[in-house]
Amino acid sequence: MRVNGLDVEPVIGLEVHVQLATRTKLWCRCPLEFGAEPNSRVCPVCLGLPGALPVLNRQAVEHAVRTAVALNCQVAGFTKWDRKSYFYPDLPKNYQISQYDLPLASGGVFEFPIDHRFARVRLIRAHLEEDAGKNVHDFPGFTGVDLNRTGTPLLEIVTEPDLHSAEECREFAVQLQRLVHYLGVSEANMQMGHMRFEPNINVIIHADGAEHRTPIVEVKNLNSFRSLHGAVAYEINRQVEAWQADGVEAATGNKSNRGWDDEREVTVPQREKEEAHDYRYFPDPDLVPLTIDAAWVAELKEHTPELPICRTERFISEYKVPPKDAPALVDDRATADLLDHAAEAGGDKATLAKHFLSFWSRRVNERGQTVAGLGVPAGHLAELATLQASRKINATAAAQVADALLGRRDAAGATTPSPAKLAEELGLLQSRDEDEIAAWVNEALAKNEKAVQDAISNPKKLQASRGFLVGQVMKLSGGQADPKIVGELIGKRLGEIAGRT
Ligand code: ZN
Ligand code: MN
Repeated sequence: MRVNGLDVEPVIGLEVHVQLATRTKLWCRCPLEFGAEPNSRVCPVCLGLPGALPVLNRQAVEHAVRTAVALNCQVAGFTKWDRKSYFYPDLPKNYQISQYDLPLASGGVFEFPIDHRFARVRLIRAHLEEDAGKNVHDFPGFTGVDLNRTGTPLLEIVTEPDLHSAEECREFAVQLQRLVHYLGVSEANMQMGHMRFEPNINVIIHADGAEHRTPIVEVKNLNSFRSLHGAVAYEINRQVEAWQADGVEAATGNKSNRGWDDEREVTVPQREKEEAHDYRYFPDPDLVPLTIDAAWVAELKEHTPELPICRTERFISEYKVPPKDAPALVDDRATADLLDHAAEAGGDKATLAKHFLSFWSRRVNERGQTVAGLGVPAGHLAELATLQASRKINATAAAQVADALLGRRDAAGATTPSPAKLAEELGLLQSRDEDEIAAWVNEALAKNEKAVQDAISNPKKLQASRGFLVGQVMKLSGGQADPKIVGELIGKRLGEIAGRT
């Protein structure tokens, strides 16, 4: 890419912290609840009181392994826990339990579509660790500490520097969020801080036949896709300008941390918390190493669902969904499953997808639900799609049947008549009886002589006049005539009239 008249290549790696969706914390039984009264979800273990002993949460390991296999990582058979020492008011133990030299997973690769190609990002590692508490700065003259969040299980995922633009970083983050949400390992709610990003950014500048590398900057603690994109884009420009001004290049010891100012949309230098990474990592003496059974990993791998990116591609080709609409069908896993089940039950695929995207989605938006949450059985969805695909009802009628299905179910519980029965009850079945339709056509032509004249004598008005006549027939039939047959019969009659004159 070009920045300030220079040929530059941004090089970006990401560290991502994903909060795992466990019921309780990583080392104790305190519940994970967002927004609870400060310091009400704590115990001697997560408060770091002397003598309290941590016990590993199995569910957190399972979530981590599920994610690791979905990201094509190798899961370690043997892994251990290390103390990462630092002093901070929101960390009562003065160390974080993390994983240092033997992470739970390593290697791996994540591929995602962007700009009509697939970006390929290699992963260095993924490990489990605990979150710290939160400093609360909304008191006059002092700072509060809320320790409800201490001990929350996090999966830290570290990529190779395989990302090359702000857009790629954002898309990686979006697709990773879809993935962990799909796997059910994280609620991945950005507003609640379930995903935090820390990009490591520098730029290779090609100038005077040489490569110049700017010093690496790590931007800390970004909690939205927007801020991730903004911080990376800002850093790329800032680093190129800084190099043009001072010529300083990457060297040992000149990596620095910056923060993102969301209001001014700039990165700002950050005071270094720790000197020279002096975290004094050492194995936690309170925790035994963890051995992970290869058969269990294989079983979890076996049960990996079809992942959102693959499913999106499949829905586009199989259900003939416009690419921009496909994510809306895929992102809620239960809804995507329901669509597949309705197709397996014999529903016409393209029609099913249209129904999901049109009237079913509309109903969902009104109710703040998902399509799966509406509780309409797959068989009914399939039957309704087939009624329309086989032209027994038209699209408008299908929407009416859908409304009737939901209305009846709300009134009478789970038992509703089948869509075919409802369509018949409501008089929505289309007529394909040619004699009946011919009678409506003749009536419409007789009542609209002007349109007939226009159609046969003025080629410029032919299409509009024919459309008008089809509309008149549909009106006469109360919407029941099959529009395709109506069109054919009108064409035929107009031909006959034109031949006579
Ligand atoms: Zn606790
Ligand atoms: Mn971390």
